[in-house]
Amino acid sequence: MADSNSSYDIVILGGGSGGYACALRAAELGKRVALIEKDKVGGTCLHRGCIPTKALLHAAEVADQAREGEAFGVRSTFEGIDMPGVHAYKDKVVDRLWKGLQSTLASRKIEMVYGDGTLVSPTQVRVGDTVYEGAHVVLATGSEAKSLPGLEIDGERVINSDHALRLDRVPRSAVILGGGVIGVEFASVWRSFGAEVTIVEMLPHLVPLEDEASSKLLERAFRRRGIGYELGTRFEGVKDNGSGVTVSLAGGRTLDSELLLVAVGRGPVSAGLGYEAAGVAVERGYVKVDEYCRTNVPTISAVGDLIPGPQLAHVGFAEGILVAERLAGLKVTPIDYDGVPRVTYSDPEVASVGITSAMAAERGIEVTELTYPIGGNGKSVILQTQGAAKLIAAATGGPDGTPGPVLGIHLVGARVGELIAEGQLIYNWEALPYDVAQLIHPHPTQSELIGEAHLALAGKPLHMHA
Ligand SMILES: Cc1cc2nc3c(=O)[nH]c(=O)nc-3n(C[C@H](O)[C@H](O)[C@H](O)COP(=O)(O)OP(=O)(O)OC[C@H]3O[C@@H](n4cnc5c(N)ncnc54)[C@H](O)[C@@H]3O)c2cc1C
Repeated sequence: MADSNSSYDIVILGGGSGGYACALRAAELGKRVALIEKDKVGGTCLHRGCIPTKALLHAAEVADQAREGEAFGVRSTFEGIDMPGVHAYKDKVVDRLWKGLQSTLASRKIEMVYGDGTLVSPTQVRVGDTVYEGAHVVLATGSEAKSLPGLEIDGERVINSDHALRLDRVPRSAVILGGGVIGVEFASVWRSFGAEVTIVEMLPHLVPLEDEASSKLLERAFRRRGIGYELGTRFEGVKDNGSGVTVSLAGGRTLDSELLLVAVGRGPVSAGLGYEAAGVAVERGYVKVDEYCRTNVPTISAVGDLIPGPQLAHVGFAEGILVAERLAGLKVTPIDYDGVPRVTYSDPEVASVGITSAMAAERGIEVTELTYPIGGNGKSVILQTQGAAKLIAAATGGPDGTPGPVLGIHLVGARVGELIAEGQLIYNWEALPYDVAQLIHPHPTQSELIGEAHLALAGKPLHMHA
């Protein structure tokens, strides 16, 4: 007979970005919360995703700066990568954030339960011999790396992002299967660390969800950096060749490398957790929800990578907060998923918010577009980075014949990930180019890219050829 602990308002299964954000907000709103986690609170993002990859990317940037000092008149030499040193730095960053998160959760009196949880009824989660009962249950078990049918991940020569983050050496060479965000970020890191890298992507472009113009700029920059890519190319198979792997591509071509990184996407963690038995509707492993993250079972909500939609930590945060506020009786607004900022932290970075040109065409929206070259931005020239800012706005609707609301902002260049926060405000506030053109951006900063692109779109370009 299982023990029962029945005094919770909310029982949350999974302590990643979605689950812990829900716990923090619900506790803030006076709810009694149990947060169940089988591994480490913080989940994929903190331990196997956003944070460790960005630490590697920062180490990669330091390596490039050491290598390229001469271009700035600084005598420096790049002597190589000390992988244990890189891991020590990365792990220190993760550890510090992990400790901070644990103490924040404790400060809000959230009951942490460590163990493997299973949903056993619409209001109960079992962990070992204990059943945690809540008036409401939030499913937040996240996602895991996928592979292709028949492609076995051995963790040695054929690896996924979890293995890549723990790799004890810089590979001499690597083939990366998948040119999405994760594949592109590892390509960028390993190239900066000195590896020969080739990305194999079935679709016609790298970062295929981005505006095509951004993908093309990234491809050009990667070509200059010596990162190879095979676009529109189907992967056929991989064989151990004794010293590494031989990757076969459609058309009979092969690529030899030390290892193959499989970065073909992530799938939901829902199998065997009792969801369907409790009556929750699941499709291809994803828990189905409405725009308020409600499942078909009135006492169960779901958030994060477990539900369809963008697999991003900040989306998980937003969904977790939305559920907590809804359950506390506050008025909540559904998330506009087009308005979620997206960043690929490679060198150069790719950042965007809103719709792409292809989406505008698909939806039949008449738009005006403007591309502002990064070469017109003083700070970007100082940084010696390449790229552009592209704006998409409704063709009409502004004063004096200027375009209507800004519908898409697409940036490529070093550090542009930081700029998309402003883009996010512009898009979500449905700002007009005319309005943004009045706002003063500090000089010389990369933020002027945003300011000047809007000046140009409002018909009064400053540092731009007529
Ligand atoms: C390499 C990589 C890089 C990434 N970079 C970024 C980035 O830069 N920016 C960004 O926004 N996103 C990034 N992401 C995506 C981001 O990590 C995810 O979107 C985010 O972690 C999803 O949060 P979640 O809470 O839905 O799931 P998760 O973070 O996966 O958390 C789910 C949690 O549930 C726990 N769990 C699962 N089953 C059970 C069970 N039965 N019982 C108890 N606990 C359970 C797991 O242990 C885990 O801790 C990256 C992902 C990867 C893999």
